Amino acid sequence: MTVASHRLQEAIHTLKKSGVRITPQRHAVLEYLLTSQSHPTADEIYKALESKFPNMSVATVYNNLRILKELGLVKELTYGDNSSRFDSSTDEHYHIICEDCGKIVDFHYPTLDEIESLAEKVSGFEISHHRMELYGVCNDCSQEKTSEKEKLNV
Ligand SMILES: [Zn+2]
Ligand SMILES: [Zn+2]
Repeated sequence: MTVASHRLQEAIHTLKKSGVRITPQRHAVLEYLLTSQSHPTADEIYKALESKFPNMSVATVYNNLRILKELGLVKELTYGDNSSRFDSSTDEHYHIICEDCGKIVDFHYPTLDEIESLAEKVSGFEISHHRMELYGVCNDCSQEKTSEKEKLNV
């Protein structure tokens, strides 16, 4: 069994335990999130599943994502606009974001707990969590740039 299908089984188990009905659409949204390994927007999920479920609306996708989020199976990454991305990996990790194409890649690094305790000390806040994002240009985009340059040199 692959890691993705194992995690899908676990997620379905969680849904069943919570008494959430597993509709074909819900199953498909979950499966897409777990196998795509990307951090898709609701729109991207909708487009990917559109041909399989012609009667499904974007609202259905959102509704399913909300339920999955409430059950802790999916994390929502908000960016202050409507382009929330959804992450099926709910363990602590950081993100590396491509400034060119917007791709988000997981970055596993020991959680920086000391930053939270220091922040609590200096601010008096009760820190709940933190978010760190690293920005740069991904491999695909930098290769594209190199080949563009090569073309110009010819
Ligand atoms: Zn890129
Ligand atoms: Zn992630």
